[in-house]
Amino acid sequence: MKNILLVEDEENILFAVKRYLGNAGYRIFPASTLSEAKTCFQDNLDLILLDLNLPDGDGFAFLDFVRKKSSIPIICLTVRDSDRDVIRGLESGADDYITKPFKLPVLKARIETVLRRVKKDPKLESILESGGVMLDKNLKKVFIDGREEDLSLKEFQLLCLFMENPGRTLTRDLIIDIVWGLDSDSVYDNTLSVSIRRLRQKLGRYRNRIRTVRGIGYRWNEGEMPDEESHC
Ligand code: CA
Repeated sequence: MKNILLVEDEENILFAVKRYLGNAGYRIFPASTLSEAKTCFQDNLDLILLDLNLPDGDGFAFLDFVRKKSSIPIICLTVRDSDRDVIRGLESGADDYITKPFKLPVLKARIETVLRRVKKDPKLESILESGGVMLDKNLKKVFIDGREEDLSLKEFQLLCLFMENPGRTLTRDLIIDIVWGLDSDSVYDNTLSVSIRRLRQKLGRYRNRIRTVRGIGYRWNEGEMPDEESHC
């Protein structure tokens, strides 16, 4: 069952959309303010329906808030139908835009289209996420808790290799082969250890995700809790 966060302050719309999509097999989490939406926002959501005019602020603020953490599809619902708002919404990372009033079957069809597109979109598949660590293969960027972190090319390739193989123990030889490739003959014994140490430093409180497997290599541990002590 797909989970949808519905951010909407107009009770009649909230009620109608909730009932209609509920009957269509979606689980709806309603929120009628921005602060409620932030509280309800979590990893298990599949899509967000977002009204842009909310009592405690502008839906664009929530759009930015979500985009710093996740690539989850967002459809904006709004009476604002000026081109400027549509462009701003799409440029801020909304996947689609529906202006009020709308027909419920049309809304459902748009939701299904967006969910289908997301599944196939290679750009979105190129984003790897593990808790607060997000890696964008296309943009060659890494974000830790939403903040961009500067990685060297080798550090980036290392992290990418780990995140593509969660839970799998990777031998030192395999890692050197993949990351250093043709240069691997000139890699010193401690080159990998030094790169791992630097990468751990940059991962900050997520440093424990890279586990040393003594005598063998390293493993990316998804379930590893962030290290709160070393937060700063
Ligand atoms: Ca509204």
